[in-house]
Formats: sequence, structure tokens, C-alpha cells
Amino acid sequence: MRCSIEGCPGEYEQREVVHTVRQGNRIIVIDHVPAEVCTICGDVLFTPDTVRKIEILRRTIEPPMRTVPLKVVIMRRVYKNHVSFSNPQLPIA
Ligand SMILES: [Zn+2]
Repeated sequence: MRCSIEGCPGEYEQREVVHTVRQGNRIIVIDHVPAEVCTICGDVLFTPDTVRKIEILRRTIEPPMRTVPLKVVIMRRVYKNHVSFSNPQLPIA
């Protein structure tokens, strides 16, 4: 398909692109998004179906629930032989 940008002689071809969307203060990077990309100017087209999937993905990615206080991280380092980092349910001391 001929590029829709005025004066560009390029053609769109099927590619996978990296697409970024904003969610509040965060930027979400989505890799391997199917798109039509102009071979000359790089103009990107998404199908309506792809746009809908990106929007669903953006809504379903939860913001982080909480952050770990710094002092907890330090204590876990001290007791790293006894407390697993990967299991936050374990008591710290
Ligand atoms: Zn173009």
C-alpha cells in the first residue's frame, strides 16, 4: 500500500514495532506490535484491531501496588543467608 504521507513515494510493509503508551505517570513499552511501516519515511499504521488490543493491554497492566521501604531492603541484605528475597512472606528477623 502506498504511503499516506503527502509527497512520500514509499510503500507500507508488514513489520513488528516497539510501541509506547502512557499510563498515568508511567510509560509502558510494548514490543512486537504488528504494524504497517513505510519503507521511506517510517510512518506507522496500526489496524483498528491492533489499536484495540493495545488499549486493552494498557488498561489491564496494574500500577505497582506499593514500594518496599529502604530499611526493609537493608535488613534483608543483613539477613540474606536466612531470608529469601523472592519470598516477601518470610519474617525479616
Ligand atoms: Zn512514507
